[in-house]
Amino acid sequence: MSKDENMLMMTPGPTEVPKRVRKAMSRPIHNPDIDEDFFEFYRSLEEKLRKIYGVEEDVLILGGEGILGLEASIASVINEGEKVLCISNGIFGDGFADFVEMYGGEAVVLEFPYDEPIEEERVESVIEKHDFKASTMVHCETPTGILNDLEGVLERLKEKDILTIVDAVSSLGGTPVPTEEIDICIGGSQKCFSSPPGLTTLSVSDRAWRLINENEREHLYTSLKVWKDTWLNNGRFPYTHLVSNLYALDESIEMILEEGLEEVHLRHERVAQVCREKGRDIGLELFPRTEELSSPTVTAFHVEGKALQLQKKMREEKDILLATSLADLEDDILRVGHMGSNAKKEKVQRTMAGLEAIVKG
Ligand SMILES: *Cc1c(COP(=O)(O)O)cnc(C)c1O
Repeated sequence: MSKDENMLMMTPGPTEVPKRVRKAMSRPIHNPDIDEDFFEFYRSLEEKLRKIYGVEEDVLILGGEGILGLEASIASVINEGEKVLCISNGIFGDGFADFVEMYGGEAVVLEFPYDEPIEEERVESVIEKHDFKASTMVHCETPTGILNDLEGVLERLKEKDILTIVDAVSSLGGTPVPTEEIDICIGGSQKCFSSPPGLTTLSVSDRAWRLINENEREHLYTSLKVWKDTWLNNGRFPYTHLVSNLYALDESIEMILEEGLEEVHLRHERVAQVCREKGRDIGLELFPRTEELSSPTVTAFHVEGKALQLQKKMREEKDILLATSLADLEDDILRVGHMGSNAKKEKVQRTMAGLEAIVKG
């Protein structure tokens, strides 16, 4: 446990959870299985979530964090032996292929370097060669700070009638996501919503429901069909829902809507700009090959072999918690998360001033 209430947690999820949201979590517990008031609350939460997604279609909120959303999407759509195109320029993009294989599908991975964009032409050429049922991709590759421009790719996939599954866990609610072109779009409570970890959100298109309904797998916890059969069609939850987490998510979304979604997006842009500029001023190099690729929700600096040491010094000397990266890149990338309630100029300035002192010291 942190001994210091003043520690600044600038990680790309979880973020700091605002007091208003923590307070909402402490509301009395309604019985989510029988209380009509709870159902009403839940329906209004779905309405608000639809506004964040900018879609009219069904949205789901599952009890489990982002990874459950990714796994449930694959488990609910893919039958044994079906081919899935996994477009990847990062760690989460690669991870989708593991889920596909785990559920008996055949993953064809179209790989790009982790610091480069997805090339539409290569997507176009691979979908000419195979018969894909679905495709997966990641909007913001959090471990490397890249925001992928997906619109052209989504259009190509749609023309071929290939279902699109997108991990927007660390972008939804912080920057525009092309949700209307996505069949299943996954979000997470502890990233741009600045809620506690514990919930994953999904938008599900009619086309996705058709494939989900045809799916033969027998499962419960990872099944989206179960949610259709219970909550959506019968107004009852498949298992006791995470009441307190839902109160928190509702409050977080309320805060975003009060500020205005567009204003929230702009705030992320502005703060990211401050972070990158200050980084450049103190001699740090961005990990993404070009600045346009850099996400408005997280900035990844390439600090070859120094990330762990810088992270430690920031924590010990400046009381600021930063993230490094994952797997092989752990010691090479230092990340400043500026999403949700952490997308504030003062917080990023304090962070970067601390980093400057450490880098120069
Ligand atoms: C955080 C994150 C997830 C979900 O991981 P958690 O275990 O919920 O933290 C999935 N995808 C991306 C891109 C993420 O940033």
